[in-house]
Amino acid sequence: MKWYQKLHWKIIIGLILGLLWGLFSSVVGWNQFTVDYVRPFGTIFVDLLKLIAVPLVLASLVVGVSSLNDMTKLSRMGGKTIGIYMITTVLAITIGLSVVNIMEPGKTLPEETRTSLMESYSENLEDRDEAAQELTERSPLQFFVDIVPQNVVEAASDNSNMLQVVFIAIILGIGIINIPLQKGEVLINFFDSLNEVIIKIVDLIMKTAPYGVFALMGAVIVDLAGDDLSQALVLLQALGWYCLAVLFGLFLHVSIVYFSLFKIFSKMRLRDFLKAIQPAILLGFSTSSSAATLPVTMERVEKNLGVDEEVSSFVLPVGATINMDGTSLYQAVAAVFIAQALGMDLTLLQQLTIVLTATLASIGAAGVPGAGIIMLVIVLQAVQVPVEGIALILGVDRILDMARTAVNVTGDAAVSVAVASSEGMLGDLHFDDE
Ligand code: ASP
Repeated sequence: MKWYQKLHWKIIIGLILGLLWGLFSSVVGWNQFTVDYVRPFGTIFVDLLKLIAVPLVLASLVVGVSSLNDMTKLSRMGGKTIGIYMITTVLAITIGLSVVNIMEPGKTLPEETRTSLMESYSENLEDRDEAAQELTERSPLQFFVDIVPQNVVEAASDNSNMLQVVFIAIILGIGIINIPLQKGEVLINFFDSLNEVIIKIVDLIMKTAPYGVFALMGAVIVDLAGDDLSQALVLLQALGWYCLAVLFGLFLHVSIVYFSLFKIFSKMRLRDFLKAIQPAILLGFSTSSSAATLPVTMERVEKNLGVDEEVSSFVLPVGATINMDGTSLYQAVAAVFIAQALGMDLTLLQQLTIVLTATLASIGAAGVPGAGIIMLVIVLQAVQVPVEGIALILGVDRILDMARTAVNVTGDAAVSVAVASSEGMLGDLHFDDE
């Protein structure tokens, strides 16, 4: 097979062509055409992925749980998963804080850029403020209350309720193993077959990924550049040091934390791991949604990394909902950047508060585009930095969202390898990606 026939290369080519198309559109004034006739293909692609996420999680987790002959394994796996997720998140925030304190991007922002950014983006803030406000008023235990659905159909009707779907699948699986086999067999076979069908559908959808990614990238660039490309470049330049701090932090996180995770838990090499799940990372990048990427992450992790379905069907949907290393790292950098730009020095206690609140904020953030910046409000409020400061970073958030989502997806996959390996449920690596 030639290199350009491999799926990940096709996606990369789609991504680059989409970027060039977006730039071309804004230079020649074809933005409306791109919005009307190119973007819809990207939307259809993402919707297809979202469409199969709930049935996939339900079917694969029911199959996973009903094949467990030892229930203590599930709770042990659950404990490990949550524990590793928390540790990697705290490490991500620590890396973010170290990078932003050393690079000090907020101090390089010129006074006049600050004033003009505050003016032009401040009206976009209200909705985000309200959404975060609602969250801060909830009881601390509301998170657990929300995991238990009142209604099966309602839980499955919204992809952001993934933890509820996980809950339903687990109790269904537990129910099945607690009745005589000849009665439960019909359901096991049903979910098993549904699972196979959906995995096939993921394969088919992925064949259209290069085109979907092209459309998504074209639309993002048109959104960013608007009618005046030069202005977008000026903005990017002004916030360049801040963007670099986030990207450098993300790079350090992947190369230090995931590298160490593999050293401790498995024999897998980071390079091989990244190569094997490349399409999922690229999709996370171009969709900015770890929830939409979930079906592909599951497929890659099972087929290419050799993680047993029992592990991946639990670890990945939970991860797509609560584990966001990229988002939490970004929130730490953004909070300190805003404080620096507004001339505030954060004390050590305030920085520790960021560790705590950014952990909670990333757990609470949904796996959809722009969720991280909504939750940033909570972090800023906790350290008494004016929430209006978000206006400073809004203009470049879409780009950073892409990078942090790619890391979120990578983190979920890395933890699934660690959990599988520690449970003796990790098979062989495969690189065939067609
Ligand atoms: N877009 C991210 C995700 O889906 C969340 C965020 O906005 O940081 O993982």
